[in-house]
Amino acid sequence: MPDFPRRPSTGITVIIVGAGFAGISAAIECDRKGHKPIILEKAETIEEITRFGDIISFDPNGARNFERWPGVIEAMQKVARQTSWLDLYHWRGEFITRQSFAEEKNWGPRINGHRGELYSIIYQHAVDRGIDIRLGQRVTDYFEDDSRAGVVVNGEDMFADVVIAAEGVRSRGRKIVLGFDDKPKSSGYAVYRSWFPGHHIKNNPMLKHLVAQDTHSGWVGPDLHFLASSLKGGQEFNWVFTHVDDGNIEESWQFPGKVEDCLKYVEGWAPIVQEIVKSTPKGGRLIDHKLVFRDPLPTFISPKARIALIGDAAHPFLPTSIQGASQSIEDGVVLAACLEQAGKSKIDVGVRAFEKIRYERVHKAQATGVKTREKWHKANWDKIREDPEAIHLTREAWLLDFDAEEDCYRRFGEVVRAVEGAKAKL
Ligand SMILES: Cc1cc2nc3c(=O)[nH]c(=O)nc-3n(C[C@H](O)[C@H](O)[C@H](O)COP(=O)(O)OP(=O)(O)OC[C@H]3O[C@@H](n4cnc5c(N)ncnc54)[C@H](O)[C@@H]3O)c2cc1C
Repeated sequence: MPDFPRRPSTGITVIIVGAGFAGISAAIECDRKGHKPIILEKAETIEEITRFGDIISFDPNGARNFERWPGVIEAMQKVARQTSWLDLYHWRGEFITRQSFAEEKNWGPRINGHRGELYSIIYQHAVDRGIDIRLGQRVTDYFEDDSRAGVVVNGEDMFADVVIAAEGVRSRGRKIVLGFDDKPKSSGYAVYRSWFPGHHIKNNPMLKHLVAQDTHSGWVGPDLHFLASSLKGGQEFNWVFTHVDDGNIEESWQFPGKVEDCLKYVEGWAPIVQEIVKSTPKGGRLIDHKLVFRDPLPTFISPKARIALIGDAAHPFLPTSIQGASQSIEDGVVLAACLEQAGKSKIDVGVRAFEKIRYERVHKAQATGVKTREKWHKANWDKIREDPEAIHLTREAWLLDFDAEEDCYRRFGEVVRAVEGAKAKL
């Protein structure tokens, strides 16, 4: 087994519930920082995690962390989309602008690829590090006291110094953190998502240019935006569109979508958009994913600061933020670094510092998703024709040119003083 660089052992034991991107990344970061993580994942096999999902994006603030995991970014780059731009069109078909991301290279790598493929690379890295990943482990409850935290898993109690709840948008850990069971709400939006081999459209005169090489295009209209892209030199093709939804919040990635339902939403849209939808192969992957929204949580940590929520359990993101996955990686990076610096005797201080460092940044990042959606869905086309860049995705340095680990190490002392000051006033 390769010997990866690790900080000296801290003796801190960490139970991580959920092996999604948030959980598996937090485990890798805990291992790097000298803690002892154990992952408990309810799925019986890794295929249960990798077989769902399609295009997923890591912006530089998320993807730069993969560079610290030997071999991971190189493996991801081989399967990721090779574009550094987005072509944007009016919903009736007029080309408006090409937004280039080339200048962001200095901020770190961008990775856009198939969720299952990218996940498998991270998972394999965790296995190579020797991380204890236990599948078929369903956590049903959480508890804590002043000296430890624990979970009930498959009916048995299990203890550690810290528990990280990374079980996604339907988290049970939220209950102990909040003190009540909050219900997910409809965001009022849903997403149709499809992924299929590029050869299905490579002889279609209207669509073949979309798979002649890797491409990335978006059509923007009232209450809807439609994105299509191809990867691996056009061998893989995918499209997604976010649309207003009736408020049914069945959160399922497996809910099948129907081409005829999708077509109703894009009636009157550019012929190319309708052709893309019509070309979705029968038996191909097409799902209707209802976007769940949750009110921002007042806190990410439990009363005794032994349990922390991370990833979608703490903060579901709208796809228009392009930040859900990246922020879930930042969470694990910061939590592992805070625990390292606080040490085993001051776990609660480390967990409180984690929340202080993350809280404001996460909520600011969440707000960008609403901003982009409004900018696109309520576009003023006369103004945009005068200034096409007005329709560009907002790409801000505070969010994307950001190293969560470096920031945490730099600010930890100051944050701890604030945390301990607040504790002393209680
Ligand atoms: C099936 C699926 C497909 C997705 N596809 C896409 C996509 O195509 N594009 C995109 O941008 N985003 C997608 N997402 C969302 C994206 O992966 C997340 O927003 C982001 O990666 C943060 O993930 P997370 O680890 O916080 O949560 P999740 O990815 O939801 O992972 C949570 C993990 O916790 C496990 N778990 C839940 N409850 C328990 C329990 N009680 N005990 C033990 N384990 C538990 C789950 O099985 C899961 O593996 C998908 C999410 C899921 C679950």
